[in-house]
Amino acid sequence: MRIIKDPSEMQSVSEKLRLRHQFIAIVMTMGALHEGHLSLLKLAREKAGTLILTIFVNPRQFGPKEDFQRYPRPFEKDASMAKAAGVDYLFAPEPETMYPDGFETRVSTGTVADGFEGATRPGHFDGMATVVLKFLMLTKPHLAVFGEKDAQQLAIIRTMVRDFNIDTRIIEAPIMREEDGLATSSRNIYLSSIERTQSAVLYRGIREARDLVAGGETDAARLVEAAESVIRSAEDTVIDYVGIVDAETFAVVETLERDRTYRILVAVRIGSTRLIDNGTFRVGETVN
Ligand code: AMP
Repeated sequence: MRIIKDPSEMQSVSEKLRLRHQFIAIVMTMGALHEGHLSLLKLAREKAGTLILTIFVNPRQFGPKEDFQRYPRPFEKDASMAKAAGVDYLFAPEPETMYPDGFETRVSTGTVADGFEGATRPGHFDGMATVVLKFLMLTKPHLAVFGEKDAQQLAIIRTMVRDFNIDTRIIEAPIMREEDGLATSSRNIYLSSIERTQSAVLYRGIREARDLVAGGETDAARLVEAAESVIRSAEDTVIDYVGIVDAETFAVVETLERDRTYRILVAVRIGSTRLIDNGTFRVGETVN
């Protein structure tokens, strides 16, 4: 595995790979690798000739009061996990080389970025989309794997790839969870042991809504209420939002219809940690 820090070196390596007809797959992360990231790498590894992993804690997608400074950066451990996962190139640039003096262009995301994470974290998605576009330009991948864990992010990336005619296939990987249902996340290490126990309510709330939909409930407000009441059953949880959207368009829905897929989106603060999760369902059907 080769570690690359310099963006222009990454770009010339990718160009050479392309000229050698290598099929390039990429997984983009902020590091502090966990089982969720490894599942993305596994999926990409199966399809790729050359597998690139990026690790970059992107300052432009963090708000001034968010956890940019304290975000974990265990680089040596990440590098050995990446190597074991079959990564060929680990691209880990510094913010100064990604955003040198004079950098001023940014991607402006559309309506799919307006609600939920977009409303709660102003500027987050523009910053995210900008860095994703830069990584696509630097690594020239045929395929990129993203996690369903960040469902709105995925929808925004799909929209950007479509709108800008980007020649990269986007595939999504299912959410990896701990035994109690908590989605694996680099931020889970912030949780105290009592908060860690409480955090299982996110998935329990999602499951509650999912069970109601499987039983035929179609009123989104009732589903939101049911999920919220499960989440509130744990002390110290503060709900940022719970919402139900059409899984394809991300439009908020009031009444669920048969033969469409919906997604419940959840963001909860537990102590000083903010967690997001989501799940899909179809009316009258049990979806895993
Ligand atoms: P992050 O490092 O948190 O920016 O995540 C990098 C990629 O890993 C994104 O595509 C995430 O959606 C994905 N990811 C993070 N956590 C999980 C998880 N628990 N299951 C599946 N994918 C995940």
